[in-house]
Amino acid sequence: MRWSLNVGSIAGTAIRIHVTFLLFLVWLGMIYYRQGGAEAAWQGTIFIVLIFLCVLLHELGHVFAARRYGVKTRDVTLWPFGGIASMERMPDKPGEELVVAVAGPAVNVVIAAVLILWLGPRFDLENLTKIENPAVSLAVKLAAANIILVLFNLIPAFPMDGGRVLRAVLAMRMDNTRATELAATIGQGFAVVFGILGILYNPMLIIIAAFIFLAASGEATQAQLRAVAQGTLVSDAMITAFESLPTSATVSDAADALIRTTQTEFPVVDGTGHLRGVLTRDAMIKALKQRGPETPVLEVMQRDIPTVLANTKLDAALRALMQRGQPVVGVTDADGKLTGLLTVENLGEMMMLHTARAEAVSGPWSKAN
Ligand SMILES: [Zn+2]
Repeated sequence: MRWSLNVGSIAGTAIRIHVTFLLFLVWLGMIYYRQGGAEAAWQGTIFIVLIFLCVLLHELGHVFAARRYGVKTRDVTLWPFGGIASMERMPDKPGEELVVAVAGPAVNVVIAAVLILWLGPRFDLENLTKIENPAVSLAVKLAAANIILVLFNLIPAFPMDGGRVLRAVLAMRMDNTRATELAATIGQGFAVVFGILGILYNPMLIIIAAFIFLAASGEATQAQLRAVAQGTLVSDAMITAFESLPTSATVSDAADALIRTTQTEFPVVDGTGHLRGVLTRDAMIKALKQRGPETPVLEVMQRDIPTVLANTKLDAALRALMQRGQPVVGVTDADGKLTGLLTVENLGEMMMLHTARAEAVSGPWSKAN
């Protein structure tokens, strides 16, 4: 990911800080400086850095819980609005998903509890509401911030952890897709309530509401896609009419193929019919600009393209496509010869057809009945 700085890695997960987060710190520092000079600027900035350390620990809570179930996390990125852990996938069993979702907020509960125990009688519940008051000690503020993090994350709406908890609990009683749809609907209900409160009290809430609303519908669409993918074979969804390039082809040959066809990704196939790599339109244009038309495609194509067998279920291919951020997945027969391709667009088309067929059979209002 561009615009984010790698600051290290923990147990195979890269820790990244997005540039906007650094700008956010500078901006906050300046505001504090104007209000109370250098002293206030330092204290304010240190406080925010400590809060984000708690956010990072929260994300690592998810990461380590997911590792227990064999799910890896490529990186955790800190943004001004919080941390995002890019997990490969969610564990399939609702019980495991529940543990992964709860592990994040649990870390903040522990931090808050430790701080409150350490503060002892110095901890006063009333101070929790005066988080912006400079007279309140750093430890009290930090305890308060962790409590707020827990409460905010337990709102039962995607993308908050509470949304996942709700989904996992529902999935223990009904099938997966239905659970996600219901959780998404409940989340959108919360978003509407937030929106109304926002209009009445605080415009910030309107932005949060819009964010939650969009995240919830995205989650529902993905769940639909997964459900369809589980009931479909790769051979039913793949592209079979496509052009491929021989290993001897140059970028100039590829450019001809780009004009001649509607494809934007070209598989490079050797004499035995095996997939050697894929040349994308972007890589082609870049190679033309930087290295000239006679560059062999073998030198500029993307290697390590995942392949799946034509007679496997579509969800394995879907995972390869989504998680590794690949442009295409190759489909092969039992001998390893390339027989088809899967792209994000053609999966999208398949979803549209699926929805259209389902509605043609049962009518568009069948869901409401
Ligand atoms: Zn979380």
